[in-house]
Amino acid sequence: LTKRIIWAMVLGLALGVMINIASSQGWLAATFNNWIDVFIVDGLFDVVGRIFVASLKLLVVPLVFVSLVCGTASLGDNTRMGPMAGKTLVLYMFTTAVAISLALIAGTVVQPGAGIDLQQEVAFEPSAVPSLKDVVINIFPDNPVQAMAAGNMLQVIVFAILMGIAISRSGERGRQVAGFFNDFNDVIMKMVTMLMHLAPYGVFCLLAKLFSGLGIDAIWKLGKYFFCVVGVLLLHGLGVYSLMLKLLAGLNPATFLNKLRPVMMFAFSTASSNATIPVTLRTAEKRLGVDNSVASFTVPLGATINMDGTAIMQGVATAFIAQAYGIDIGLSGYMMVIMTATLASIGTAGVPGVGLITLTMVLTQVGLPAEGIAFIIGVDRLLDMVRTAVNVTGDSMVSLVVAKTEGELNEDMFATSTEQLVAR
Ligand code: ASP
Repeated sequence: LTKRIIWAMVLGLALGVMINIASSQGWLAATFNNWIDVFIVDGLFDVVGRIFVASLKLLVVPLVFVSLVCGTASLGDNTRMGPMAGKTLVLYMFTTAVAISLALIAGTVVQPGAGIDLQQEVAFEPSAVPSLKDVVINIFPDNPVQAMAAGNMLQVIVFAILMGIAISRSGERGRQVAGFFNDFNDVIMKMVTMLMHLAPYGVFCLLAKLFSGLGIDAIWKLGKYFFCVVGVLLLHGLGVYSLMLKLLAGLNPATFLNKLRPVMMFAFSTASSNATIPVTLRTAEKRLGVDNSVASFTVPLGATINMDGTAIMQGVATAFIAQAYGIDIGLSGYMMVIMTATLASIGTAGVPGVGLITLTMVLTQVGLPAEGIAFIIGVDRLLDMVRTAVNVTGDSMVSLVVAKTEGELNEDMFATSTEQLVAR
């Protein structure tokens, strides 16, 4: 399946770029062009692509809820929940702080905004950003059904943990309920597997549609910014994570990255850590060997609060906008960026484009004009795809480290190749 998804990605991307160039260069007769746009790109590709993303999102809430109830209930001794949660949060914060620091260093060295003059007027409507107080209050649900209907992941997580703890303290009755949830969990995992078979078609259509409409010249105009972000994303996603995995868990980074390919591809094509949760969770549990008691907590939490790739974009973007406006924010400004960007991702769901919204908060915090965002929007969709792949890689890396240090990692499964696991 992984190979088929890779092929689908390559073919979708190539076809999208071809349609894009053909229409911008006027290679095809206008009516034919129109026909392709209406029936193929906005018709077939859009329909299949959206159904694919919907089918992934469909599973997120039930999967996270059921799986986390099972995970928490199976911990039995609830005192283990605290240290595990603490470790996870510290690691998520730490990786994000490293990510944004790298981005700021790169932004200062490469100077992506030098020579660009943004003094001209631009129209840009900054989006409203929730206050920290609201973010904290909103973690606690007052109505679990509403939380689920709205897909509010942190609230669903809190409700599931409470339910899991209650189950483990309810003796025989609790065991019966836990049995039901365990069976239910297996059934939903089966659904994930079923829907994953749609992936090659979905990925092909998503990428073909996206690349056929992408303003490719924007990338060249903002080349320095674009490649600076991509460079730091690669450094963090491949270098920093490998190092941490080796140092903190003694695990082989090559095995990790290899097994994580499908997850990265899903994240890349949907640009949503949230929609990728079913695939991340399945891969963590069935390929990487992370026990459900750890993965069911770390994966959905990470998809919501851990966005290293997003922080990297925000770091470089801040440097870019400061340089382009000729404003020096100083060292304290940079410190402020590190803090705000690390906190900004908490409470905002991992959905496409959310990074730009929280960037408003980062910029205002250090006194930079939020209008600067208008200049980088043109290349943001593509960067969103790459940074989402980094976001989910970070979630999985932390899950592995937590599992290993909590004694909840099946090392034999981690070391066994995917092909062999499938054959079993
Ligand atoms: N699309 C990203 C995610 O889902 C968030 C962002 O950077 O906009 O993880």
